[in-house]
Amino acid sequence: MTAREVIVVGGGLIGSLVAFTLRRAGADVLVLDAGRRGAAWRAAGGLLTPDGERLRGTPLEPDALAGLRHWPGLARDLETASGQPVFFREGVRRLKASGGEACTPGEASLHPPSVVRAARQTVQVVAAQVVGLDPVRGGVWVRAAAGEWHAQTVVLAAGAWSGAFGLPVTAVQGQALLLDSPAEVGALYGPLTRGFPPYALSRPDGVYVGATSRPSWATTPDPHATRWLLGVARQLVPEVKTPVQTRLVGLRPVTPDGLPLVAPHPGLPGVVVAAGHGRHGALLAPVTAARVLALVGAGVPA
Ligand SMILES: Cc1cc2nc3c(=O)[nH]c(=O)nc-3n(C[C@H](O)[C@H](O)[C@H](O)COP(=O)(O)OP(=O)(O)OC[C@H]3O[C@@H](n4cnc5c(N)ncnc54)[C@H](O)[C@@H]3O)c2cc1C
Repeated sequence: MTAREVIVVGGGLIGSLVAFTLRRAGADVLVLDAGRRGAAWRAAGGLLTPDGERLRGTPLEPDALAGLRHWPGLARDLETASGQPVFFREGVRRLKASGGEACTPGEASLHPPSVVRAARQTVQVVAAQVVGLDPVRGGVWVRAAAGEWHAQTVVLAAGAWSGAFGLPVTAVQGQALLLDSPAEVGALYGPLTRGFPPYALSRPDGVYVGATSRPSWATTPDPHATRWLLGVARQLVPEVKTPVQTRLVGLRPVTPDGLPLVAPHPGLPGVVVAAGHGRHGALLAPVTAARVLALVGAGVPA
């Protein structure tokens, strides 16, 4: 048994950035991560584009714009603290169906796996799949096959799997392709057809083409999605003719109303929830981390 001030359950995009932010504020933080197949951060594109995602006029607009404002500084802080690059780059071009392009100043992209790895560098991370959270006087017991821990406060950031802890969170699967190419295509949003527009961007690991969206817990790529994504690649980046390097599958954590849950757990005293960021976890992570810091600092009702 080890006692900690804060234990973060789940070291994905949200959990690792929450842990980084808490640690920087002086908290004693431990991250427990299950290494789940299908974790969204491994498959995420890394676009930070409120306009591409049509968030203007939605309840997410203020946090999305705040996320965009915070990212340049957060990326620098992460790189300084970890000594690792996160590949933050300004500039997203949106192709219009009528021809021409639009671009919103400040929109940007980054490399989600690098962000998670950099943030994890700054805190202790233990491989463990948490199966139980038991509130007790003065804190919470955290149970996993790998061990038991006691924390004053737990932050539950288990992505789509947060539903196992009494929360209305489930999975929307997204598939994407990484093309084995050093081509410099920037960050490109396709014209709006229906649903969400396809996109392509250059990353350190290749040209990323995304992304499908359907309610499912499946974590293996399927040929139908691959065919659609190859069509997107031909449309958006015809100059990239290299083969598919990796087929990515991630489970986006979603809530019934599409809004993230960042609040004390309704049934577990001492537990703060940070889950349900859907398709915007990278964009919203800075604001979520600041909100969790405020909740933990204020003392979660025990
Ligand atoms: C194809 C695709 C493209 C995307 N593109 C973008 C984009 O361009 N921009 C953007 O802003 N967002 C994007 N997203 C969304 C973004 O990836 C998610 O919103 C974000 O990853 C959610 O972060 P999270 O930490 O809540 O969940 P995850 O990133 O899924 O991390 C959850 C973590 O919790 C761990 N875990 C689960 N259960 C347990 C347990 N019981 N005990 C311990 N650990 C546990 C898992 O191992 C995992 O590491 C995309 C997602 C997908 C799938």
